[in-house]
Amino acid sequence: MRRHPRTTVIACIACTAVLALTAGLGGCAADESVTVSREALGTVVTITAYGDDEAQVTAAIDGAFAAIAAVEAGLDAYDPGSAVSAFNQTPYEERDLPADALAVLDAVGRLGVGDAFSPALFGVVGQYSFDSSGTVPDAARLAWAVEAAASFQRVGDGGRFAEETLSIPACDVESYPGLDFGGAAKGLALDRAREALRESGGVAAAIITAGSTTVTLGTKPDGGVWRIGVEDPRDTGRVVAVFALEGEGALSTSGDYQRYFEADGVRYHHILDPASGAPAYGLRSLTVAGTSLSGLDSDILSTALFVRGETDALRYASAHGCALYLVDGEGRARIAPAPDGSGVTVAEEAAPRR
Ligand code: ADP
Ligand code: MG
Repeated sequence: MRRHPRTTVIACIACTAVLALTAGLGGCAADESVTVSREALGTVVTITAYGDDEAQVTAAIDGAFAAIAAVEAGLDAYDPGSAVSAFNQTPYEERDLPADALAVLDAVGRLGVGDAFSPALFGVVGQYSFDSSGTVPDAARLAWAVEAAASFQRVGDGGRFAEETLSIPACDVESYPGLDFGGAAKGLALDRAREALRESGGVAAAIITAGSTTVTLGTKPDGGVWRIGVEDPRDTGRVVAVFALEGEGALSTSGDYQRYFEADGVRYHHILDPASGAPAYGLRSLTVAGTSLSGLDSDILSTALFVRGETDALRYASAHGCALYLVDGEGRARIAPAPDGSGVTVAEEAAPRR
């Protein structure tokens, strides 16, 4: 059941989903910042960090990018050298997962979204060939892959697929179950980058963005708020909403426009309902933010709440004190503010294109 290694990287997206509205300044004194952008996690990651000593801040940013690379090296299912790839080559063999993978599984359990967020969709996502021109999956093969993915069982603190598996058609290599952390790895990587900046001692505050996920460290030194724009899912150059975080927090967007293809007038996009293996329809984009959320939490939640749809997403946000901005299937925006005093607000900037 060997897989053919692929060459793409985790969560390879065509465009960024949020726009950090922070100005990067050269130099570094008092409340000035250093901004560095590099390719990582299948997108461009930008770190803006504030501190008194420019050399120290720059070195801390290098450390943050190294922390991101370490997460990516372990969790990228499309990197043949990653720990997750090794697992996916023999998914029915019991094997300990790397700590980063367990961190994702733990967070999915803690957030209570295991119905909508499945880290075992590698074989299901693969049916769509999003990385090439796109393929509408054969219904029977898709159903098999969905069932195989659902058979994944975590054993103890480790991870493996259940021994009781389905009979495997010899020709169906691409349907084998496997782990895909593309819906969460960015968030975890940004959390690790934030910790690297914090532990460096030379950074007072920072904002780190990887397009669809942003995390903030500390309070903005100029006394203002961290402002993060959300792009229009049908016109990605336009900002349709702006979130403001008073201090540390996280924000993630999931959308039907980041990786998709169209066939016979149907949009096949990359966020899949684990119950059916079909793209989750109902929303165009969903953004969740909170000062109590880690980057990992927000990344998992944006994917999971997108799958669950508007009613459940709004209920979840109000029960958990998060702010939500979503664009429904007709292009109507809906805002769910976080409770007063939670340190996060969201305001509409423009109506999304219909
Ligand atoms: P982004 O790629 O912009 O970070 P998401 O965080 O929403 O967007 O992640 C989407 C990716 O997660 C998909 O490309 C796929 O690899 C994976 N995925 C798709 N559906 C699910 C799901 N229901 N649960 C977990 N992962 C998923
Ligand atoms: Mg996600």
